[in-house]
Amino acid sequence: MEFVDTLNRTRSAQLFEEAKKYFPGGVNSPVRAFKSVSGPPLFIKEGQGCRITDEDDNTYIDFCCSWGPLILGHNNGRIRELVLETVAKGTSFGTPNKLGNQLGKLIIENNRYIDKIRFVSSGTEAVMSAIRLARGITGKSKVIKFDGCYHGHVDSLLVKAGSGLATFGVSTSAGIPESFAKETIVLPLDDRQLLDQTLQEHSNDIACIIVEPVPANNGLLLQSRSFLECLRLKCYKYGVLLIFDEVISGFRVGFEGAAGRYNIQPDIITYGKIIGGGMPVGAYGGSHEVMSHIAPDGPVYQAGTLSANPVAMAAGYAALQQLLEPGFYAELEGKTERFANNIRQYADEKGYELSVQQIASIFWIAFSRDKIVRSDQIDAKSMDKFKVLHHELLQRGVYLGPSGYEVGFVSAAHTEGDLEEAAGKMKEALDIVFK
Ligand SMILES: *Cc1c(COP(=O)(O)O)cnc(C)c1O
Repeated sequence: MEFVDTLNRTRSAQLFEEAKKYFPGGVNSPVRAFKSVSGPPLFIKEGQGCRITDEDDNTYIDFCCSWGPLILGHNNGRIRELVLETVAKGTSFGTPNKLGNQLGKLIIENNRYIDKIRFVSSGTEAVMSAIRLARGITGKSKVIKFDGCYHGHVDSLLVKAGSGLATFGVSTSAGIPESFAKETIVLPLDDRQLLDQTLQEHSNDIACIIVEPVPANNGLLLQSRSFLECLRLKCYKYGVLLIFDEVISGFRVGFEGAAGRYNIQPDIITYGKIIGGGMPVGAYGGSHEVMSHIAPDGPVYQAGTLSANPVAMAAGYAALQQLLEPGFYAELEGKTERFANNIRQYADEKGYELSVQQIASIFWIAFSRDKIVRSDQIDAKSMDKFKVLHHELLQRGVYLGPSGYEVGFVSAAHTEGDLEEAAGKMKEALDIVFK
């Protein structure tokens, strides 16, 4: 298939060529390279509300939103103001600071599932620390993760299932010792029998189960509450800690994340993305007892030079305050639902092989009509269709994350009018995809 640009990407293309001289693949995070969609990646110079503008002055309605953090859209006024006020006094002191307290208080007082929190600087760091904490508490070393869940680039979690069911993992990246990968057991989502069997056989070695309660890094693999509840009960039964990786779902599917939405109490929760209001912040939290194991209170070491620096705390604080306003989540979810329904309805009328998976303000277009709950149900060939969709949407001024496995995010800055406009463009693009 040949892709013709009516879009002028000259400056982006030039900058990308230059970037290749400095960065592996021209990027600082792999999926940004546009490998699975058409043309060079766009160099974005500005974002306002739900729109981003590239170096060639093309403007797009943005559904990537920096991969999730920007639930308030780009350049939110209150975040900008507090960041500017804070940065004027210096960026980092490596000491405790009041803004850290303010953000910590805001989170703890509005989240029934954690008593204490520790700030770090990325989602990966949060997950890595949470796993260490689980190992430190239980004195056990193995981790169960699920195929189709992403937990950052933590060594022992960049693994996939080995051959056969419930075997120890094999790494999906060079540079990960086999001995690390062996510490991870990879199971399919939504398979209670295999879960139980694995726990029966290995629970003496298993420190924790880590799961994205709303798996949103490999399509949107919405799990039943009963499966998540089953994880909770099995963990209690077998003396294993349950980690909810809420780096995407935290503050996204509700202020209390998926724990609150499903009302399930994990032992440790990890956060990232939205928590930093667009600055690099991650965090992990748990009960007083669980968190008492962290240094300097306890023996599990974890530290960070720029952790909880005032500028990052300011951005997070200004962002999360706005999420607590009455009706914030209901309105955002309502808008997203109407947007998804609009596209669903059109696809139904036209008989297109497509479904729109959606929860809260997350959506994912699947080129299948089946309910997809496990990653092996995603047809890799359907990604050819995504490539066309992505291309056609770019031409029309709509920006989706550059991979068919990535979900879309609606922000509070997307108005009904913006979403109506985007849906119209989506329909035009789908007509070309299914031509
Ligand atoms: C994004 C993400 C991570 C990694 O966060 P980074 O800030 O990119 O390191 C971990 N877990 C989940 C569920 C994520 O979505």
